[in-house]
Amino acid sequence: MKKLNQRVALVTGAASGIGEAIARLFAEEGARVFAADVNVPGVRAVDASIEAAGGSATAVETDVAREDHIRRLVDQAEAAHGRVDVLVNNAGIMDDFLPAGEVTDPVWERVLAVNLAGPMRAIRRVLPIFLRQGGGVIVNISSIAGHQGARAGAAYTSSKHALIGLTRNVAFDYAGRGVRCNAIAPGAIATNIRATILHPSTLGNERAMCGFAFNPREGAPVEIARVALFLACDDSSYVNGAMLTADSGWTAY
Ligand code: NAD
Repeated sequence: MKKLNQRVALVTGAASGIGEAIARLFAEEGARVFAADVNVPGVRAVDASIEAAGGSATAVETDVAREDHIRRLVDQAEAAHGRVDVLVNNAGIMDDFLPAGEVTDPVWERVLAVNLAGPMRAIRRVLPIFLRQGGGVIVNISSIAGHQGARAGAAYTSSKHALIGLTRNVAFDYAGRGVRCNAIAPGAIATNIRATILHPSTLGNERAMCGFAFNPREGAPVEIARVALFLACDDSSYVNGAMLTADSGWTAY
C-alpha cells in the first residue's frame, strides 16, 4: 500500500529543489499533488513530468505572499477532490545574509511575507477543512537557521525561528482533533536557492561561513523529501509539534 494513497497534498515552492522533490515523491506514493509556485513554467514542467510518470499533479500559479493566491490554491484543491489532507509549506527565499545593521525594510518585509505569513495564511485556510473532515497534516520547511543564529541574515533567521514557533503553536492548539503540525530543519541542500543570493553582505556572509567547516556534507533534495514523507504519512502518527533536523550532523557539533 502506498503511503499517501489518494491523499490530497498541497506543496508550495514545487517548481524547484526541495519542493519539487517532495511533489515527485508524494505523487509516487499515491498522493494527488497540487504543485504551487510563482514560477509558472517551472511548476508546469514538474506537473507534466509527474503525470508522465503515472502520478497525479496539478500546477497552480501561487505567490504565497498573496492571500488571494493562497485562497485560490486551497479552494481549487478542495473543489477538485472535496478534501485536503496534507499541506507542505516549503516555498521560501533567502536574504543576502544581511545582518541587522544592514537589512532593508523591503527585504525584511518580503522575506517575512514569503517565509512566515505565507505558511500562516495557508494553515489558516486549510484548518477549517481539516477540522471538518476530522484531520490533516502540516509540514513546515524551516531550516537549521530556525534554531541557530548565524546560518543566514537577520530576516531569514527570524522567519525560520518564527516558523518553528508557529509549528508548535498549531500543533498544541489542534492536538487531539486529528491535526498534526511538524517542521523540518534542513542543513545545506543542493538546490537553486543559492542562485538567489545576489549581493551578499560582507559581514553577514563572513559570519555565516564560520560554521561551514563543520558541515559533514551537502544533502540532496530527495533526502529532505523522504523526511517530509515520514511526517506527512501515518508512520509519524504520534509525532506532533516536532522540529526534525536533517543536516547530516552539522548542528550536532
Ligand atoms: P529553491 O530556490 O530551489 O526552491 C524554492 C522554490 O520556491 C522555487 O521554485 C521558487 O520559485 C519558489 N518560490 C519562491 N518564492 C515564492 C513565492 N512567493 N510563492 C511561491 N513560490 C515561491 O530553494 P530550496 O532550497 O528548495 O528551498 C525550499 C525551502 O527549503 C525554503 O523554505 C528554504 O528556506 C528551505 N531550506 C533550504 C535549504 C537549502 O540549503 N537549500 C536549507 C534549509 C532550508
